[in-house]
Amino acid sequence: MSRSIWAWVESERGVAAEASLEVLGEARRLADKLKIRVVAVCPSAEPQAESLGPRGADVELAVLSPGLDRFTVEGALAAAAAAAKDYPPEAVLIAATARGSALAPRLAARFGWGYAPNSVMFEGDPAQGLEVRRAVLGGKADALLRFQPGSTTVVAFPPGLIGLDPPQPRRRSERVVSELDGADIGPASVAVLETIPADPATVSLDEAERIVAGGLGFAEREDWALLERTAAALAGSVGASKPVFDRGWVDQQRLIGQSSGRRLAPQLFVGVGVSGSTHFVEGMKDSASIVAINRDKGAPLAALAELTLVGDLYQILPELIRRIGGTDELNTAGAARPLEGDSS
Ligand SMILES: Cc1cc2nc3c(=O)[nH]c(=O)nc-3n(C[C@H](O)[C@H](O)[C@H](O)COP(=O)(O)OP(=O)(O)OC[C@H]3O[C@@H](n4cnc5c(N)ncnc54)[C@H](O)[C@@H]3O)c2cc1C
Repeated sequence: MSRSIWAWVESERGVAAEASLEVLGEARRLADKLKIRVVAVCPSAEPQAESLGPRGADVELAVLSPGLDRFTVEGALAAAAAAAKDYPPEAVLIAATARGSALAPRLAARFGWGYAPNSVMFEGDPAQGLEVRRAVLGGKADALLRFQPGSTTVVAFPPGLIGLDPPQPRRRSERVVSELDGADIGPASVAVLETIPADPATVSLDEAERIVAGGLGFAEREDWALLERTAAALAGSVGASKPVFDRGWVDQQRLIGQSSGRRLAPQLFVGVGVSGSTHFVEGMKDSASIVAINRDKGAPLAALAELTLVGDLYQILPELIRRIGGTDELNTAGAARPLEGDSS
């Protein structure tokens, strides 16, 4: 039997989650080194709309059941048991989304596999003992875990950490369907009553698709409301540089940069009145699109940004919100502040 490494694929109405495509790409990299195959395990009520071959799968295993239309741990474990019959894995790569984080330790416990949460890097051959680095102490240090040779390990990666590889349109995968019935799944211990979309104002920065972050360009505590309203207008989450955190304007969860231990990779990152020190950039440089708003066109963040709006944030932000269609209360939040220095 050929050796297999799994990428666990979460999907919604047949569309794979971006975080799952990231782990699929990572599985591909390991499989290429070891010359083993990547099995994309896709538990769902309906098949994937698009082939996962271009994303790195050799085998796309659709474990289908009407009972898998909503995520339950029981359903996912039943799907894993079905997949393991024909494709016993040497490693299972999974995105630590809310669902992935609920499932990963249970997968390990159910099948007697090893478990590496919060992983930042892994290498080696499971046959000789897989090595996984994981973030510990809030990301301030990495721990190296070495697993027993020949053991199976569940490796969970924070979403956004790996990044998405461009698809390889010519790569093909074999599509295999395995059908489960309700009896295989059994009763769920938790019933999902409703799915409520995340509120960008409260969602964790790790999961935010858009982040609007401010720095010392905001002169006073009360001016910070202008940043919050800009974030709201852009349906983004609020972030802050360390000096802003040190002033107590935001809590630790909103801190961006090396000291936060997080490496954020949102779709859009807007840095307002932030210089872009190396400490700050360390936490957000993987963002897909970066916009800087700064009165200094030579600020380091501008060098990283796709777009820089050069000028006074107290003038730019109210205008930006007005154009997006946000509240016009903003004019009170500092528009009267005199311009200092260059605003070219
Ligand atoms: C060990 C260590 C760890 C650190 N970790 C972190 C970390 O995790 N995160 C972090 O952020 N920092 C960290 N720092 C601090 C870091 O080195 C910088 O000092 C900090 O990032 C600067 O924050 P800032 O960009 O908000 O402020 P500044 O560097 O002062 O930048 C303010 C910017 O606002 C612009 N500006 C001012 N007024 C306006 C206006 N009206 N309109 C438009 N633009 C304006 C200025 O041109 C400037 O570019 C760390 C430092 C150390 C030593």
